[in-house]
Amino acid sequence: MNISILGSTGSIGTQALKVADDLKGIKEINIKAISGNKNVRLLEEQARKYCPEIVAVFSEEGAKDLKVRLSDTPVKVVCGQEGLTQVATHPESEMVLSSIVGSSGLVPTLHAIESGKDIALANKETLVTAGKLFMDKIAEKKVRLLPVDSEHCAIFQSLAGNRHNKIRKILLTASGGPFFGKTRDELKGVTKEMALSHPNWSMGAKITIDSATLMNKGLEVIEAKWLFGVDIDDIEVVVQRESIIHSMVEYEDLSVIAQLSLPSMKHPIQYAFTYPDRLPSPDRRLNFADLKKLTFFEPDEETFSCLRLAKEAGKMGGIMPTVLNASNEVAVEKFLKGEISFLQIGETVEKTLSEYKNIENPTIDDILRIDADVRERFK
Ligand code: MN
Repeated sequence: MNISILGSTGSIGTQALKVADDLKGIKEINIKAISGNKNVRLLEEQARKYCPEIVAVFSEEGAKDLKVRLSDTPVKVVCGQEGLTQVATHPESEMVLSSIVGSSGLVPTLHAIESGKDIALANKETLVTAGKLFMDKIAEKKVRLLPVDSEHCAIFQSLAGNRHNKIRKILLTASGGPFFGKTRDELKGVTKEMALSHPNWSMGAKITIDSATLMNKGLEVIEAKWLFGVDIDDIEVVVQRESIIHSMVEYEDLSVIAQLSLPSMKHPIQYAFTYPDRLPSPDRRLNFADLKKLTFFEPDEETFSCLRLAKEAGKMGGIMPTVLNASNEVAVEKFLKGEISFLQIGETVEKTLSEYKNIENPTIDDILRIDADVRERFK
């Protein structure tokens, strides 16, 4: 299978290349095009190892640098939004892995769908900010959409063979993050380092902070709403501390179907690459006797206001999820720079949401305009 990777130097992108290595001799994954943001050295390394035809670097400067570095190879280096489009629409790619962080992944992913590519979606912000337009485009172009988010991949697997049956609840699991069980008072002095150390998952900085505030789970509730066509009220967040059950589906007969595995993003990536087949993985297997127990709790939406805010924005629909997502992206950036405190992330999102009037059935231009407008407020 030929693929393009949007965001090959990030956490998902690098793990996807490892999965391609693991599958060698079982299923060949040919990397036709890749894109990165600023890590030019890693892009050079990847280009030499995987020999894609096109490498896109977002910045012009980075592209110039990479062009020089790869001048002894036939690799074509491109840049900017146009470069991302070339990666997303490479004529030989059958699938595009969308793993750019944040809403900047939206436009190139829409281009990929437009040109008939199957989508392996790791970029949840895309569905949060433009879920309806995105899903309509998927249906119109009749392409496959495979979720590369562990929870949504688990739900997708738990729905297999049951699509004709009514769902009672989607049980979306959450680890609870590094601050599980803490009070708001205890969260006042949280530092960047504390927020960046997740107990179960190793991920990029943005999603790790989102996991600490539970905004990640909030975004995932909205993501699930669009992926599986359910109401926000039919999605129940369950804290599963060990991150072994990746999510579950409860049916009308009260049967619950779950997917379990050790926490590794390589699992959902491989499933997207091999679907509908299940091919061997060299990773460690789940040993239940070692595990001994699984622990469950209800999420605390009062302390972790981001989860509540995301559900509210998801129910309102229109542009509110766009406002939620953009203000969260800005707030997380500010927190990582040390400009605001941990609790101010949720406060910033709440205040920004209150400042916008909703627009029903927004167009893609409305969404891009509101997204830019929210970011402009914080400049
Ligand atoms: Mn997830």
